[in-house]
Amino acid sequence: MAKVIGIDLGTTNSAVAVVDAGFPMLLANQDGKRLTPSVVHFDTASHPSAIGEEAARMGLLEPAQTVYSVKRFMGRRFEEVTQQEKEVHYPLNGSKGQPIKVALKDRCMLPEEVAAEILKSLKKTAEIALECSIEKAVITVPAYFNDAQRQATMEAGRLAGLQVERIINEPTAAALAYGLNKLKDQARIAVYDLGGGTFDITILELNEGVFRVLSTQGNTCLGGDDLDQAILDHFLQIIGKEVELDVVLEEQGALPRLREAAQKAKIALSTQASTAVKLPFLGKDFHFNEEFTREQLEQIALPVIDRTRPHCVRAMHDAGLETVDLDQVLLVGGQTRMPLVRKRVNAYFKCSVFEETRGNVRLGDTFHTPDGPTLNTGQNPDEAVALGAAIQGAILSGEIKHMTLLDVTPLSLGIETFGGLMNVLIPRNSTIPIKAGEVFTTAVDRQEETLIHVLQGEREKAADNWSLGRFMIPFENAPKGVPRLGVQFEIDANGVLNVLARDIHTGNEQILEFKSVIDVEDATVTQMVESAVEHAMEDLESRHWIENSLKAKTLLKAVKQSVDECSDVLDAHYLASVLEASSKLEGVLARENTEKRSGDTNSLKSAIKNLDEITQELAHIQLDRMAASYLDQEQEP
Ligand code: ADP
Ligand code: MG
Repeated sequence: MAKVIGIDLGTTNSAVAVVDAGFPMLLANQDGKRLTPSVVHFDTASHPSAIGEEAARMGLLEPAQTVYSVKRFMGRRFEEVTQQEKEVHYPLNGSKGQPIKVALKDRCMLPEEVAAEILKSLKKTAEIALECSIEKAVITVPAYFNDAQRQATMEAGRLAGLQVERIINEPTAAALAYGLNKLKDQARIAVYDLGGGTFDITILELNEGVFRVLSTQGNTCLGGDDLDQAILDHFLQIIGKEVELDVVLEEQGALPRLREAAQKAKIALSTQASTAVKLPFLGKDFHFNEEFTREQLEQIALPVIDRTRPHCVRAMHDAGLETVDLDQVLLVGGQTRMPLVRKRVNAYFKCSVFEETRGNVRLGDTFHTPDGPTLNTGQNPDEAVALGAAIQGAILSGEIKHMTLLDVTPLSLGIETFGGLMNVLIPRNSTIPIKAGEVFTTAVDRQEETLIHVLQGEREKAADNWSLGRFMIPFENAPKGVPRLGVQFEIDANGVLNVLARDIHTGNEQILEFKSVIDVEDATVTQMVESAVEHAMEDLESRHWIENSLKAKTLLKAVKQSVDECSDVLDAHYLASVLEASSKLEGVLARENTEKRSGDTNSLKSAIKNLDEITQELAHIQLDRMAASYLDQEQEP
């Protein structure tokens, strides 16, 4: 049976695991460590020369040739990446609409090419440990990775010479590693994953051995890195009080050294109450010497950690659950080793009365309340994801049986319809694999083809969502409303989307697979969900406006036609009132392209109602006319 290894390709750290004789275990790299920093150092000829810890060390000397946190850039376009995210120590390049690239001395690399170097090294780790060649892997991604990011991850695997059997969500993998299948028949679990660069919160349900993701939320730009940055800023503030800051920062490697010290201090303070930060010769004749306490750290860290809270609240809301409905809360990601994180998570989910006994928390402690969930820290939080990936690998290779795993779509998928609105075919948080379809028709006579515009996102207007792609589907020539166009979306077990469009009459069809980089706006998936919440009111307003404006346009056209037909019998006074109501409606409609028109939907609605009421009489006149002309026809010999 060919082994399928499990890989956690992390922003900060990566790990590889395998199930051996029924036991999942992490494999140690050549440094004897189970976690490999996701860092690649390139030599002057731009060839990868070191991976992991050695590369991280080289980063202090040659920051411009040392790539870290590359996962942040995977499958993303240049303009999608925020300025803050672009602040890395190595150069990036790219232009609008193009994928962001790492700009090495004489070579530009795609993020997935850099990630492939990390995967190659993990593959080698596994091959040395298992003494056989490895071809197949399961790789994990944050739950919020979109199609392009998942595709880039698959590509990285391919470039590393791996057959990627499955891409699975990190929280789902972690839940497997925690052995949730051994829980009682029905259980609900929250997985809180705070790593170096990403945060995910996922609510899972276990039902008779089958896992299902109820909801998933997160932020692709929130993690331990932000804490390191906050500590670094704090150090810079202290330095700035003592000496000219620029003089220190001019010194080569001063900033990376400070960043490393910030992270070391943070980690030390997870188990100690205070730590000495010593950086001799940080600047010319300047030595940085500071005592840094857990209390100081917690003050700095609290606002950063609490940025995860709204995501937890929303995930629970999306899942339709109260905290008392949860059985367990799992902690995943190295950053959850920090006592303050545990304390906060405990509070968010009302797990129990958290007792910070003897100043620190032992790994593996769990806390109970009579009705709240248990905070489960039974696994090493930064190893659980790789272990779970290995378990999934073993399920796929047939080594482990009787376990199924279902996943969900992180964002809604649909197509653009009339008036530029989003028509959702697969709602967010649908269990995958999934198939869904709808039948559409044409709005124009003799239309010969129509554009299918595939969208991903939570906003009401098509333009506010992400455009996954567009394609034309030809029609057999027919009057409007006659053609029948079936559009079907299918998401496979890897979360990859296939769109099929078929002219039902002729059977002509086209299938579009999303292998290309997504053409997205300047936003991340998380921002998408957040902005959907933030703009919920105005989005609804837009939808109402668009729906009513379509109605208004149809009405105006019909009224104009009736007026033309009946003008000879209309009373001048009445005609004037019809024309006035029409032009009033046109006036409101004309505000369509103005920036601010909040509240205008009501004016639009009342103008429609007004015209509708006034033209009742006109409608009767027209009906009478039609009836009369029928009678005339009948009376003709
Ligand atoms: P990722 O999944 O993003 O690759 P990890 O799960 O490996 O990241 O978590 C890395 C983060 O965890 C880093 O920010 C690191 O500083 C932090 N971390 C690791 N160990 C500890 C610890 N003992 N205390 C506090 N933070 C820690
Ligand atoms: Mg992780």
